[in-house]
Amino acid sequence: MNHRTPARSTFRTTALVVAVGSTALIGFLGYTSYGASPTAADQLGVSDVRAHPAPHPAAPPKDRDLRDESGRVSGNVTVFDDSSAAVTRLDGDLLRALREAATDAADDGITIYVNSGWRSKDYQNDLLRDAVSKYGSMAAAARWVATPQTSPHVSGDAVDVGKTNAMSWLSQHGAAYGLCQIYGNEPWHFELRDTRNGCPQMYADPTHDPRMQ
Ligand SMILES: [Zn+2]
Repeated sequence: MNHRTPARSTFRTTALVVAVGSTALIGFLGYTSYGASPTAADQLGVSDVRAHPAPHPAAPPKDRDLRDESGRVSGNVTVFDDSSAAVTRLDGDLLRALREAATDAADDGITIYVNSGWRSKDYQNDLLRDAVSKYGSMAAAARWVATPQTSPHVSGDAVDVGKTNAMSWLSQHGAAYGLCQIYGNEPWHFELRDTRNGCPQMYADPTHDPRMQ
């Protein structure tokens, strides 16, 4: 990247001129108006020039927090992750059941990850839009992604778990904690149900779920 070297030295020269020039100016202001120097320096942005000598503005801060605010999940998030809105905004009973199950699953050497949990309406809408363009129509997309109005993820009542070993552990032991797979085509999607008589029969896919109508 040849063009960067001259750009950088130009910046240094400019910074030096600004620094020298403003030092003289601050001296002048200090002489004429007692106590005015810091304000004048701030207004001139002198301190900024000195504090950030990088040739380009610093990269924007990681948007981890914002992503969490929407319920997006990045990396390995467990049901115990208190910094992820996807986890903490789940329904309290669902989260308690998940943590109980995860504690026992850990004894079997299995970690239950949250691939998706609570979602903001905007995030759910983004998912729906992506699904419509992927599957070609709203009707086809409805087999996989609900609307913000109907999604149990938006209300905090559903969790998509990973990885495969956690899915199969939960399909085997989940009912003991009230955790049930709801849709035949989504082995990762669990919700809380009355399981005194075992988990209810699954719907083939979400389009058969009366809540989605
Ligand atoms: Zn789901």
